[in-house]
Amino acid sequence: MATPASAPLLDQNVSKFIAKTHKILINGKWVEAASGKTFPTYNPATGEVLSRVAEGDKEDIDRAVKAARAAFETGPWSKITPSERGRMIWKLGDLIEKHLEEFAQLESLDNGKPLSVARVADVPLAADLFRYMAGWATKIEGNTIPISAGGGATQFLAYTVREPVGVVGQIIPWNFPLLMAAWKLGPALATACTIVLKPAEQTPLSALLLGELMQEAGIPDGVVNIVPGYGETAGAALSAHPRVDKIAFTGSTEVGKLILQAAAGNLKKVSLELGGKSPNIVLGDADVDAAIPGAASAIFFNHGQCCCAGSRLYVESDIFDRVVDGVAQFANNIRVGPGMDPTSDMGPLVSEEQMNRVCGYLESGISEGAKALTGGSRVGDKGYFVKPTVLVNTTDKMKVVREEIFGPVVTAIPFRSVEELAHAANNSNYGLAAGVWTRDIKKAHKLAGMLRAGTVWINCYNVFDAALPFGGYKESGWGREMGHEVLEQYTEVKAVCTPIS
Ligand code: ADP
Repeated sequence: MATPASAPLLDQNVSKFIAKTHKILINGKWVEAASGKTFPTYNPATGEVLSRVAEGDKEDIDRAVKAARAAFETGPWSKITPSERGRMIWKLGDLIEKHLEEFAQLESLDNGKPLSVARVADVPLAADLFRYMAGWATKIEGNTIPISAGGGATQFLAYTVREPVGVVGQIIPWNFPLLMAAWKLGPALATACTIVLKPAEQTPLSALLLGELMQEAGIPDGVVNIVPGYGETAGAALSAHPRVDKIAFTGSTEVGKLILQAAAGNLKKVSLELGGKSPNIVLGDADVDAAIPGAASAIFFNHGQCCCAGSRLYVESDIFDRVVDGVAQFANNIRVGPGMDPTSDMGPLVSEEQMNRVCGYLESGISEGAKALTGGSRVGDKGYFVKPTVLVNTTDKMKVVREEIFGPVVTAIPFRSVEELAHAANNSNYGLAAGVWTRDIKKAHKLAGMLRAGTVWINCYNVFDAALPFGGYKESGWGREMGHEVLEQYTEVKAVCTPIS
């Protein structure tokens, strides 16, 4: 494991930020939890407490929803022009860029990911998301619609307008803490909603730093409220709240189902971005030199803690050994160590719980007959590090093939025909993403059409863009994030109709 000795010095602002006890953002003010309680957030590279955060619960959610309601109904937000709103959202992107190093260090410390990754992926993608959504603020349009009502005896003018859905509750996970906050806040702000955001209890810090930038961006008080806390308490209260118009959730399928039940009380709108068990398919004619690092990065990026991770690797039989040995070799060369150490390629998993979960899957797979070509266990006994693992001799009955592991573990399975492969690839409750590696353009697009997944990457993987919609089929979710598709989930359509003759 890499030694932390070469870790870069902490940014002074980051040192100050983690030293303070964080509060809850309600109506533009930082307040303590009604209960006065705080909870720890840990550094997963050491297992030590990193910072303490106010523990929001039902009463704090109530206060935050009240503030968001008032900001939506009577605050200045509803009167701000779309152009001004767009400028504020753009400014948030600028401010994220200005504080790039602080965000990147916080992300690395709180989540465990390599600082180098946070610098080039999480933080710039978050800034870009806000800029993309800033442009939409002035383009939330309706239609004029020719209608035939009245049989022609009366002429009508009919048109639609898109209005903000209202107060939105947003619950986000810990794998890309800042980026997930951006995916959620960007479209809600573009459509003039107001928000109560609950970050994951494992990684609340970057969302709280983002909260500190709202006033500087010019966003009125009460438009963005941030309540850190646990899922079963603060999260459950937000999803059940009768004065919340919509809940947007990213996380596990299991919790997604609970959120749906909680939302039934007032039939709030629901969008869900959930788990995956995505097939990554290498055909016999693929450029193997590209497919090997591609397949390895598809699973090992962010330590496999991606809902769209390419966790089921299907390789055509005649090149199976070559590709899988190559992926195992790649895994062997990954330097596992603290995210803040510049020599680390892969950091720790986010928490002890997550490490134990992943190790439990490894034990289950091996006890059912799978073989680890490389990896298969924890690294060391301090921090939550797990070796990148390639499992072979797996069958589609095994838990490691069926269930989402959310760790650096790929199962490799050979196939003989595309039909057999398409069946196996789709044989999952999930349908978030898929990868196809081939030189044959016809086969690539034919397979893209056969795969029941919200994203199909051809000769690439994990390519994200604010303009590209992302979301799942089947139990991977409802609705889409990003692109213009997401705006539909933050707006209501109103049809207006009047006789004009
Ligand atoms: P993981 O199991 O990987 O931690 P979760 O789906 O549990 O992922 O967590 C994602 C987010 O959902 C977190 O912000 C968490 O606090 C929240 N959450 C967990 N349980 C609930 C719940 N019962 N109701 C609402 N939110 C929840």
